[in-house]
Amino acid sequence: MSTEMPSQGSDQDSDYEQSDQDDDLLCYYNNDVNDLEIDKPKSDDTEQFDYELLTVEDVERLLNEEVEYICSAVHISPALSKMLLQEHGWQKENLLKKHTENPARLLVDSNIMPSVKFQDLGANSLVCAVCTLRYSRDRIESLTCGHGFCKECWDRYFQVQIQQGVTTGIQCMASDCNVLVPENVLCDILSQPDIRDRYMRLTFMDHVKTHPELRFCPGPNCPVIVRAAQPLAKKVECSKCKTSFCFRCGIEYHAPTDCSTIKRWLTKCADDSETANYISAHTKDCPRCHVCIEKNGGCNHMQCSRCKHDFCWMCLGDWKTHGSEYYECSRYKENPNIANESAHAQAREALKKYLFYFERFFHFCFSQWENHAKSLKLEEQTLNTIKSRIQEKVMNNSGTWIDWQYLLDAASLLKKCRYTLQYTYPYAYYMEKGARKQLFEYQQAQLEAEVENLSWKIERAEITDRGDLENQMDVAEKRRLTLLKDFLEI
Ligand SMILES: [Zn+2]
Ligand SMILES: [Zn+2]
Ligand SMILES: [Zn+2]
Ligand SMILES: [Zn+2]
Ligand SMILES: [Zn+2]
Ligand SMILES: [Zn+2]
Repeated sequence: MSTEMPSQGSDQDSDYEQSDQDDDLLCYYNNDVNDLEIDKPKSDDTEQFDYELLTVEDVERLLNEEVEYICSAVHISPALSKMLLQEHGWQKENLLKKHTENPARLLVDSNIMPSVKFQDLGANSLVCAVCTLRYSRDRIESLTCGHGFCKECWDRYFQVQIQQGVTTGIQCMASDCNVLVPENVLCDILSQPDIRDRYMRLTFMDHVKTHPELRFCPGPNCPVIVRAAQPLAKKVECSKCKTSFCFRCGIEYHAPTDCSTIKRWLTKCADDSETANYISAHTKDCPRCHVCIEKNGGCNHMQCSRCKHDFCWMCLGDWKTHGSEYYECSRYKENPNIANESAHAQAREALKKYLFYFERFFHFCFSQWENHAKSLKLEEQTLNTIKSRIQEKVMNNSGTWIDWQYLLDAASLLKKCRYTLQYTYPYAYYMEKGARKQLFEYQQAQLEAEVENLSWKIERAEITDRGDLENQMDVAEKRRLTLLKDFLEI
């Protein structure tokens, strides 16, 4: 079987000579190959990202420190400092710069002071404009704007707002008045302790959500808050709930696709659930003898159990030519004359293109693609199989767990490479035609080929030489890093 494997490593260099790519691309390819030969230092890892995992208490302490810092720099109360910070997305330098330029303007722009003061509450008694009853001065409350209302009306108003989920954005009750209600005023008036707790909880969430350095872990009911110096689209792993996600957008990590593209893609996929059902069948017919074949591993290299024909699960092409010619299974070949076709034909072509990428994107979770937890099920199966195989060997005195550790390393590398490969499909789907797309598709194909080789070798690890497998791991990871280095926008 292994003699039919696609050529690997440096043999790949000859591939593009057979294909009719243009000169620009040849030049790109040569760079690509050169890159592969250099061992990258750690700092060159595009996925490297420093972050810390914090508890709610840690973050409260951290926010309080920032509030105190602004209190002493701007000489205002903690409640107002908090509002200033929130209004400025917790960007202290920006806030202080504005304060140096024009302190009064800063307070007005941040909706802490009114641009024009409405009135002085000089009188002994006042009529509340909401309930139209007359109250003594001490039962009236007003913000810096001077709009006075009775405390009962404020209380009811706060309760309604908080129940609707508004907290840091609660404004004065007077129409056309943008002055925000400070936390201390609100907490003094609110009569219901449970609503006050809700207010504090939601306010804290608002603070974390607007803070550029902080992100809630999106794991279910996970209390962890991640802190990183910059809001980059990098991978974060929560050690508590084991969720991994993109620090910038909170969705599953999606390199090389960017945050807005992956959002668009996932929305599109969710809107097309019928398509998902269409794809989710995980049986196909052998292209030679037409016997029905069920897919049971992650590898695309299938062998028919009846006629022993080797073929690609994804494109149903013969695996022999798949391996030896320029690998094109991952590339969608658009009809070049589609613009001249009927609207119906164009719509069909668009659907074909979408299905092509859809099937590849959800390849590892075909049973129920919308369920993210299942997406790595196949990898887990592979890992468990490997573990039991090692267990068997150890029981038969054929080496120790340490001797076989490399198989587990190979499986986890395979998982990582497949993950990146999966997220190359939405990227390619939305990419404009041109040289850059061609380069991307080339590198994607290279990665796909090496991932398939790795997968095949891992599934047959007993008959694969350890050095051969380790070499394959090396090649696959280099392909992955090269693609990310060239296409990951930071
Ligand atoms: Zn009132
Ligand atoms: Zn007002
Ligand atoms: Zn978590
Ligand atoms: Zn993102
Ligand atoms: Zn067959
Ligand atoms: Zn194929």
